[in-house]
Amino acid sequence: MSHIQFVPAATRKPKPDEGGLGFGRIFTDHMLLADYDVDKGWHGARIVPYGPLSLDPAAAVLHYGQELFEGIKAFRGGDGKVRLFRTEKNCERMAAGAARLCIPPIDPAFMLEMITELVRVEQDWVPRAPGTALYIRPTLIATEPFLGVRPAKTYTFFVVLSPVGAYYAEGIDPVRIWVEAKYVRAARGGLGAVKAGANYAASLLAGEEAKKKGYAQVLWLDAIEHRWFEEVGTMNLFLRIGDEVVTPPLGGSILDGVTRDTAITLLREWGAKVSERPVSIDEVREAHARGELREVFGTGTAAVISPVKELCYHGESLVVGDGKMGELSRRLYDTITGIQYGKLPDTRGWLRAV
Ligand SMILES: *Cc1c(COP(=O)(O)O)cnc(C)c1O
Repeated sequence: MSHIQFVPAATRKPKPDEGGLGFGRIFTDHMLLADYDVDKGWHGARIVPYGPLSLDPAAAVLHYGQELFEGIKAFRGGDGKVRLFRTEKNCERMAAGAARLCIPPIDPAFMLEMITELVRVEQDWVPRAPGTALYIRPTLIATEPFLGVRPAKTYTFFVVLSPVGAYYAEGIDPVRIWVEAKYVRAARGGLGAVKAGANYAASLLAGEEAKKKGYAQVLWLDAIEHRWFEEVGTMNLFLRIGDEVVTPPLGGSILDGVTRDTAITLLREWGAKVSERPVSIDEVREAHARGELREVFGTGTAAVISPVKELCYHGESLVVGDGKMGELSRRLYDTITGIQYGKLPDTRGWLRAV
């Protein structure tokens, strides 16, 4: 695109071994930058060699956390083509989240164009091994050097790319989850519905304490009654209780996940009863006692579906189903990844060739 300037890197890094990619450690040769100021609005979109940013130590993001990000993947199909999955939703979500943080939003169509162009430039970095992908991390930060508390007047948008390994390299192993009754991730009216780094900072301590106790992640309860299920780790939460699939409604403290929406859409197409309704720990304990807690799983771009085999609440252990990955979890995982890698037909217009 003529209005995205391209400054090629003088040297290219060797491509990593696809067997040991891990997550988010390796970055490609180029990154995308754009700037905002009051006079010019968003301007100066450019693809430049990957490298450190230069920030004033007084930059507002470093003090007051005016920041949000996105998480997207590009997939290489068996035909060698590179595709993005529902990325327009990520661009719309970033614009909505920016408004909540008093950051001037980027036009979602232009953001999609910038991402597509960067991935096109770096397409050799999209790995080929099964389950691998190119992770895309767009980020918006306040750069104005000013210590007064108000929305900044200058911002930078950047996008970096990282080839990532298969999330389930060793097969899908359902995880044990700690139901968190002390710490909260987000309160309604706060930033919970925004992909703000601040939410992640708020979540770290609970995650560390859960890990020390032998649990993979925490299940977050609401901030007021500590009773209503919200999210699991950094994923949206689904439960299959009897024949109903339940996911907590988007009430302002829960992120509107692209994978959540994809799962709801597919489940409804398959004729499953899906309810976006509040679900409490009491209801789940009773369902467990009746033998009707059949599946619990998280949804998110990184893992797609993360099955849960056990919930621990105040020392009480609730084993989910037979402790193995459930039937709907499996079908969702196979279908979503099948579409992403071009193995299943894209009948819903979810893919975009790069
Ligand atoms: C990113 C994120 C999700 C998952 O969203 P996807 O669009 O499906 O990747 C869920 N919860 C939180 C808190 C998140 O930050």
